[in-house]
Amino acid sequence: MNILQTFIRLFFPKTCLNCDERLLENEQFICSNCNNSLKFLENICIICGAPKTTGECNVCRINEFQFDKARSVFMFNKVVQNMIHEFKYNEMTQIAKFMGMKAQEYIERFQPFDHIDYIVPVPLHKVKKRSRGFNQAEYLAREISKNLNWKHLPKLIKRKKFTETQTKLNKDQRKKNVSLAFAINIKYDIKGKNILLVDDVFTTGATANSITIALKEKQVNKVYVLTIARAL
Ligand SMILES: [Zn+2]
Repeated sequence: MNILQTFIRLFFPKTCLNCDERLLENEQFICSNCNNSLKFLENICIICGAPKTTGECNVCRINEFQFDKARSVFMFNKVVQNMIHEFKYNEMTQIAKFMGMKAQEYIERFQPFDHIDYIVPVPLHKVKKRSRGFNQAEYLAREISKNLNWKHLPKLIKRKKFTETQTKLNKDQRKKNVSLAFAINIKYDIKGKNILLVDDVFTTGATANSITIALKEKQVNKVYVLTIARAL
């Protein structure tokens, strides 16, 4: 630290983004207490919670989905929630790096996926991207791709249009509406490839599912989903 940084730090000490505890010199944005509360969600099916060390989950709702496997790095808690929130709204590249490192550690430890050819972020609609300035999923995918040496294709999937208000539609109309929302960039040859789709939070799985349908129409082999957390 130079003199100016020391000076700033003296009057505006950095605090933990979760508990507001003053941070020590070696701590970046969360204190070690909060850091210790982060637990890996191990290698379980994030749809039903069943431990699946090999293969796909055949017992749960994953049968409703077209993707082959879905995993989350962390169990959801307040610290994860606050990190993702800060990450989304205050563009914190430090958090992206941290999460990318944790995702790498998770993947290397549990090896939940077969060979990955391409890593692809869930796209954000242009209008949202403009107002927020960046796509958090793209930041995550880039970090993971650097760490694991997997090819990153941030422009493979495009959102075609704003999904209209879904509430007035029935279930079938809703499904159709969502699956029309994504387009695959044909300049990439993805036939027979395995793709890892990355996002920050897994909620209903509807978006990942629609993207998977679009990808499998282009004869992609496997589609895996990795998120930082599984929303409760
Ligand atoms: Zn803390």
